[in-house]
Amino acid sequence: MIKVKKRKFLLLPGDGIGPEVIGEVKKIITWFNVNKSLDFDMEEALVGGASYDKHGTPITDEVFYKSLECEAVILGAVGGPKYDNLDFSKRPERALLKLRKELKLFANLRPAICFKQLVEASTLKPEIVSGLDIMIVRELTGGIYFGEPRGIKPIDKGERKGINTHTYTSSEIKRVARVAFDLAKKRNNKVTSCEKSNVMEAGQLWKEEVQNLHDKEFKDVELNHMLADNCAMQLLRNPKQFDVIVTDNLFGDMLSDEASMLTGSLGLLPSASLGAKNKDGEMRAMYEPVHGSAPDIAGKGIANPIATILSFAMALRYSLDLDKEADDLEKAVQNVLDDGLRTKDIMSKGTKEISTSGMGDAIIAYLQK
Ligand code: NAD
Repeated sequence: MIKVKKRKFLLLPGDGIGPEVIGEVKKIITWFNVNKSLDFDMEEALVGGASYDKHGTPITDEVFYKSLECEAVILGAVGGPKYDNLDFSKRPERALLKLRKELKLFANLRPAICFKQLVEASTLKPEIVSGLDIMIVRELTGGIYFGEPRGIKPIDKGERKGINTHTYTSSEIKRVARVAFDLAKKRNNKVTSCEKSNVMEAGQLWKEEVQNLHDKEFKDVELNHMLADNCAMQLLRNPKQFDVIVTDNLFGDMLSDEASMLTGSLGLLPSASLGAKNKDGEMRAMYEPVHGSAPDIAGKGIANPIATILSFAMALRYSLDLDKEADDLEKAVQNVLDDGLRTKDIMSKGTKEISTSGMGDAIIAYLQK
């Protein structure tokens, strides 16, 4: 296994607004180095359409190997209309799939935080979402999206059959549940595990293994089991009942999208994808905003960099164990929003519009205070 270089970030800006939002993270890394002597090292490389344009592939082997020797990959976004008709193997998104698969990033963390300053942007009533802070942990490399057999095959009389297989092993379930329990200990100490154990054997195994792990290693964390369809309903009815939700790949895909809508704005949502820790405690990880490359606003200097900056804060917290610096950065974002400074996508009456770089500068100004 390639040795991880401590405190080294690989920045992969990608396409569209990717370079603009990653540009603000670069400023923040530089600020930490100059003002807090943190000795962060950063390297930048092409990925997605930008890599295809130069090298004919969405990610070169060289860039992939660079990703193996960094403590964290920070990605902007990939894709755009220019690449929509490429063969599937050359599409910008292949780079993300390759990184997730080859780095074995099995746990996808998506916080859904509703900033009190932006509560009006949610489609739900303010009292339901104000102060919301949920973490959804989705299993990312197993389940029905990967299970075999799969495919579409002809059957009798012109009929066809579509097949996907939902499988999980005990160890796949336990390793993602462990991530959820560890996270809960740093938060409000509560895990809700979601499956469909009433109708699926794989769901029954999921429930049993999560409970077993809890009873063996995490007795001090509160654990509830919930059917995934009930969870979908509870997220709309009373989302603040949740702290950490852990679930499989399929249900996690849906529940995390649903939870993200509670918060109202795509430009604010970070994510992390984590691998397993090796015996030296090293972990592969990739951090990226939930949004895409937003070609409609690329190059205009109006993209919201907060989702990417908060993704970087997650990297500080989960890859580098720098909780204080992560807290400071998240607090700086809150302060800027308190001041009524907004990028175009989150403007409302009485607030002041600033550019992408204006937002980065305002956040740095609060770090400085
Ligand atoms: P998108 O997230 O790029 O954009 C959706 C809408 O939200 C657009 O109106 C856009 O202007 C706005 N938006 C998104 N991020 C914003 C930000 N930071 N600040 C302000 N406004 C923002 O989704 P899409 O339009 O469906 O996809 C565009 C391209 O991005 C496609 O090629 C798609 O495949 C790709 N994509 C990539 C990723 C990724 O890299 N992880 C994720 C989703 C989509």
